[in-house]
Amino acid sequence: MIDNNTQKADLFESLRHRMVEEQIIRRGVTNPLVISAMKKVPRHLFVPKDLIHKAYEDRPLPIGHEQTISQPYIVAYMTQALRLVGGEKVLEIGTGCGYQAAVLAEIAKEVYTIERIAELAEKAKNTLKSLNYNNVHVVVGDGTLGLDEFAPYDAIIVTAGGPKIPKTLIEQLKVGGSLVMPVGEYKYGQTLTRITKGVNGKINEEKLIDVLFVPLIGDEGWKQ
Ligand code: SAM
Repeated sequence: MIDNNTQKADLFESLRHRMVEEQIIRRGVTNPLVISAMKKVPRHLFVPKDLIHKAYEDRPLPIGHEQTISQPYIVAYMTQALRLVGGEKVLEIGTGCGYQAAVLAEIAKEVYTIERIAELAEKAKNTLKSLNYNNVHVVVGDGTLGLDEFAPYDAIIVTAGGPKIPKTLIEQLKVGGSLVMPVGEYKYGQTLTRITKGVNGKINEEKLIDVLFVPLIGDEGWKQ
């Protein structure tokens, strides 16, 4: 006999696969590593319990403290934009509920993720631990200052919007690495921007798509 929990897990898996087909592949995400990570990570276990039935919808959801878990498509798009091939050391700024970190952890070797709100960091840490994401390291602090201890990083992803790409993060990026961040001159509404560090530290900047992220608050971000 199939028990209730198995039925629920099957239902969430089928919703997740549909999410990937309809929201992600159909919109042009092609990287097989990203597609397989998005098919695997149980998004419904990262959202607040009362929103679990909305976990696979095509939108961001509130996670408390006026913060959000990003829309699945944006998570996939940003992950693809990092051009990971597997085995990297990645830095994420803005852990939130830890979902993006889990997606990265399916591809990269080590993921360091910084969150400024201690309660969110603690919750994300517990969720990631319960799912055995032992290669994700959650740190509480101001991510605009990066994490010098483990620098340089093969890739850096910022999941909150700031007025400019923090200089410190550019310094902590490896030569040949990519950094993706929502950048905008106003607190709400940004352009997803990718910079690539070439030899001699030469920076190439590309504007990708328009996005709407919560603000990046910190020394090299917005002031409160
Ligand atoms: N990546 C997250 C996920 O998968 O749920 C979504 C992140 S949410 C859109 C943005 C997060 O960035 C919030 O949790 C917010 O507290 C955090 N944040 C904002 N400024 C920050 C900073 N300077 N350092 C670290 N985290 C910051």
